Amino acid sequence: MKLSAYYAPTLKEDPAEADVVSHKLLTRAGMIRKLTSGIYTFLPLGLRALNKAAKIVREEMDRAGALEILMPAVQPADLWRETGRWEVYGKELLRFKDRHDRDYCLGPTHEEVVTDLLRGEIKSYRQLPLNVYQIQTKFRDEIRPRFGLMRGREFVMKDGYSFDKDEDGANAAYQAMYAAYGRIFTRLGLEFRAVEADSGAIGGSFSHEFMVLAETGEDTIAACPKCSYGANLEKAQVMCALPMASGDAGKVEEVATPGVKTIAEVAAFLNVGPEEIFKTLLFIADGKRVAALVRGDRDINEVKLKNFLGASELALAAPEEVEAATGAPAGFAGPVGLGVDTIYADQELCAGLEWICGANKADTHLRRVNLKRDVGLTGFADLRSVAEGDRCPGCGEQLTLRRGIEVGHVFKLGTKYSESMKALFLDETGVERPMIMGCYGIGVSRIVAAAVEQNHDENGILWPPSIAPFEAVVVDLSGKDEAAKAKAAEIYEMLKTLDVETVLDDRDERPGSKFKDADLMGFPLQLVVGGKGLSRGVVEAKDRRTGVKSELPVEGFAAAFEAWRDTVRKGWE
Ligand code: ATP
Ligand code: MG
Repeated sequence: MKLSAYYAPTLKEDPAEADVVSHKLLTRAGMIRKLTSGIYTFLPLGLRALNKAAKIVREEMDRAGALEILMPAVQPADLWRETGRWEVYGKELLRFKDRHDRDYCLGPTHEEVVTDLLRGEIKSYRQLPLNVYQIQTKFRDEIRPRFGLMRGREFVMKDGYSFDKDEDGANAAYQAMYAAYGRIFTRLGLEFRAVEADSGAIGGSFSHEFMVLAETGEDTIAACPKCSYGANLEKAQVMCALPMASGDAGKVEEVATPGVKTIAEVAAFLNVGPEEIFKTLLFIADGKRVAALVRGDRDINEVKLKNFLGASELALAAPEEVEAATGAPAGFAGPVGLGVDTIYADQELCAGLEWICGANKADTHLRRVNLKRDVGLTGFADLRSVAEGDRCPGCGEQLTLRRGIEVGHVFKLGTKYSESMKALFLDETGVERPMIMGCYGIGVSRIVAAAVEQNHDENGILWPPSIAPFEAVVVDLSGKDEAAKAKAAEIYEMLKTLDVETVLDDRDERPGSKFKDADLMGFPLQLVVGGKGLSRGVVEAKDRRTGVKSELPVEGFAAAFEAWRDTVRKGWE
């Protein structure tokens, strides 16, 4: 491809409304253009990256035995009424009417359509299992479309659906998709973690999110630097090997702490560390009061607490409620003599013999509180969020907290849709049963953005070779030197014969702006052909990712190039 005849309009300035680096760089590098909020056009370079991501996804889905189909974007409301989602889906679902006044929506996902498709056709266990997928444009009227391709309103998704006759089959389908996703993100060359996600009513580990690690991610996850362990903060188990405190605690003592409320204030006032104090938090769980204790330097994780209690509703108690339960103003709550039947302490508190906590009395704290002796504790539990330095449940290494971008999601659906939509089949014994479903999504356009979020520098994109729109760029610096121009063209042609996807920057631009654009567009391999190098018989080669420059001889160029390319590719592994 010759840049002089291509459409890749680069920009010097970041678009004003862009708030993340992928949005800025993809726009500036002439790869995408915004049509309106959350809706983008892919220009030729951007589309090449998108298609490459889609190709890898497609190949791995096919390899795992899933069958590609293509379902419509427009979906009739009646299907959504059958599952009850027409009422509950909310404003993300873009609804409209046709000329006959019938209701439709633009598909944000395709459970209804795919279930409708197969319920008419699958009658017997002999026709199962079946796993179908599509790569198709979704529409979700997101409240806050932002971050460019990361959270668009219109975006490209791979969505797949499995149908099985029994639990074993459904679990095997889930495992096969989980494994395929691992291969996909590995082949894409992205650093990622599969994390256990909240699977709501289904329970068990039947929902995993695939997260690309990048500082700009919306989610925080605990990741092990040594093994493949990763978990959402809501899910990450805190490994606690602390022994139960033993020995005799001193007598409980009241201390006056006038106006001293926060942990930091108490610690400073009493001249102790925050880890010698515990916080007492009051929650309302399904209408009942529950107290949770956690070390002063930690926080209760409400999702963990809710799951632990098996509650369907959990909220922090309002200040009036706290005052009613403690008889003291907020800030002085403690578990000793508290009017609450259920009190759980975070497991870490087991190691402390004497604690400082609120006294349920204005301007007062207690010292030397012993949890066994002084508190009617219901029990200990893992209630806090995992923190930097906690041990990995997989291998014991210290965990680090990383930000992640959700690029994929695998989910065991069970019979939610097959029951409500009557997708039934006859099993081996002639009994009619609902099919057991799973659904598997990948944000294909989000992958393109996530790759840039993870791989860029101050000059532009660093495309992983797997999805780089082109692998190499030949920067023609010949100027008026016709012989050098011919050499640049010759090298470009040679690379094509070597099956290297190559761009020739033959534009009539100054060297500085050609270098800038090459860096901005981020092709992994840069080759600079100019009179100066040629006079010494060399072409300059730059690894875009590391910036390392080398010289390739014009004589025997092909072999030298291939060896160099292999080292650059290896660097990406
Ligand atoms: P999120 O929590 O980010 O909104 P989701 O849970 O709604 O995601 P799913 O319904 O599981 O996402 O969709 C499957 C995949 O589609 C996601 O893992 C994500 O990669 C992608 N995706 C979801 N919403 C968007 C969006 N607005 N723009 C781009 N990609 C998206
Ligand atoms: Mg969403």
